[in-house]
Amino acid sequence: MLSTMQDVPLLISRILNHGSALHGTSQVITWTGEGEPERRSFAEIGTRAAQLAHALREDLGVESDDRVATLMWNNADHVEAYFAIPSMGAVLHTLNLRLPVEQLAWIVNHAADRVVIVNGSLLPLLAPLLPHLKPVEHIVVSGPGDRSLLDGASAQVHEYEELLAGKPTAYDWPELDERSAAAMCYTSGTTGDPKGVVFSHRSIYLHSMQVNMAQSMGLTDEDTTLIVVPQFHVNAWGLPHATFMTGVNMLMPDRFLQPGPLAEMIDKVRPTHAAAVPTIWQGLLAELTARPRDVSALTQVTIGGSACPPALMGAFDKLGMRVYHAWGMTETSPLGTIARPPAHVVGTEQEFAYRLTQGRFPAGVEARLTGPGGERLPWDGESAGELEVRGPWIAGAYYGGEGAEPLRPADKFSEDGWLKTGDVGTISPDGFLTLTDRAKDVIKSGGEWISSVELENALMAHPDVTEAAVVAVPDEKWGERPLATVVLKEGATADFAALRSFLADEGKIAKWQLPERWTIIEAVPKTSVGKFDKKVLRRQYAEGELDVSQI
Ligand code: AMP
Repeated sequence: MLSTMQDVPLLISRILNHGSALHGTSQVITWTGEGEPERRSFAEIGTRAAQLAHALREDLGVESDDRVATLMWNNADHVEAYFAIPSMGAVLHTLNLRLPVEQLAWIVNHAADRVVIVNGSLLPLLAPLLPHLKPVEHIVVSGPGDRSLLDGASAQVHEYEELLAGKPTAYDWPELDERSAAAMCYTSGTTGDPKGVVFSHRSIYLHSMQVNMAQSMGLTDEDTTLIVVPQFHVNAWGLPHATFMTGVNMLMPDRFLQPGPLAEMIDKVRPTHAAAVPTIWQGLLAELTARPRDVSALTQVTIGGSACPPALMGAFDKLGMRVYHAWGMTETSPLGTIARPPAHVVGTEQEFAYRLTQGRFPAGVEARLTGPGGERLPWDGESAGELEVRGPWIAGAYYGGEGAEPLRPADKFSEDGWLKTGDVGTISPDGFLTLTDRAKDVIKSGGEWISSVELENALMAHPDVTEAAVVAVPDEKWGERPLATVVLKEGATADFAALRSFLADEGKIAKWQLPERWTIIEAVPKTSVGKFDKKVLRRQYAEGELDVSQI
């Protein structure tokens, strides 16, 4: 028997129409570095998104399914592109401006982007790439920057504002299939070629509702969210879409992502919520310690993208900012879990431990753990295995390229269609995930696993340590052993023996897991999205570039 309910497709244009009409006075506030930030209402974003869609269709000839790329910071123009491109039936392709240029060119060619909308400040990055970007026919430049860098480009160059000027302020958005492509994003690609995840209207719509749930980020139109996580990194964790559903104001840092300007915008604009990876928060913490500001409005912080060190969570708690730890990946849109402790532990000693986990799975994400031999493991909080997930905003394949079949590599998807995350961890009986490692980072010592993340967290709790990364290195006797690479605070005096006994204190780390190889480094190498780049450390060790002490 069929239901009697209406079958209205879940489309991005519906989110846009809702936000620009019912939350028309909410704002996208873009930091400009000097003077007042630029404020644009949701109503204006709605009319300008319609104008952008007219320009793309009528002036640039963009058709359904054409890929329109953005090479942009987080700002109001980028939000317009977020809504205009999928709403008209084309596909928004956000480009990661921190990728090595060869990878960026590969991605543009693989996605066959016809148009690139670029911030003027990023022209020095785009211009030298242009001869290698075969499918790009049009470049649209927004905001200040040196246009002469594009002299001689074979693609046609347009000004964003000129394209919009005089265009109708409404657009008859097509009634699309909700399962059609809305946006795409390539994973950072640590091995092999980058892989394209293609989000549907439906997946983005449902994911936005999840972001908005009280047990998730739970923001309302009384809030302002500082979106530090880039719009090119999994749709800024879905926040631009989610905020248009609820009227949450967005504070966008544009290119001012250094700790100083971030502290200043928190002080001046007074956001109530912020979202970023741990490295941003480490920098901000150091800045606020050196030069305190009024950050009292900011009471809720979502941290994800890599594990949140306990010391960092504790430090932000002291500043009055409550940290909510979340886990996800490009393939999961990204929200997979968020750590809001269950009601019965709030106010008890267990609460902090719950907050340090990666969090609980929401109703839309099903999870299971698979052991090394392919066996299903129980949710007992102890059995560690590879996490597999499925759900309406989880990828079921990667983009295969123009006209090609989607890719379902066996190391990424199980035979029955679940996503293999490559993350190793445990799940408690009440559904809280604790990641112990990436499958490829776990240290296999004498047949036992050592969690690099656990060692790093314990090290980063030492007052003399700013950052620490632990990697597996080959060992004749044990197969692999941990190498601890440590960044010391300025003027710090701790030596390796002291750090080692700090780890051993109170049985924090089992004796057999303590590293015997140690080195001091200036900074932990980071990937294009700010995560620890352990393959660089492994390579440096293998090539003898690190000055390693054995204790
Ligand atoms: P990306 O697709 O670039 O966002 O990377 C996704 C990967 O980041 C995941 O598979 C995890 O390995 C890692 N990750 C994301 N969030 C967390 C977290 N809260 N704790 C530990 N690792 C995380």
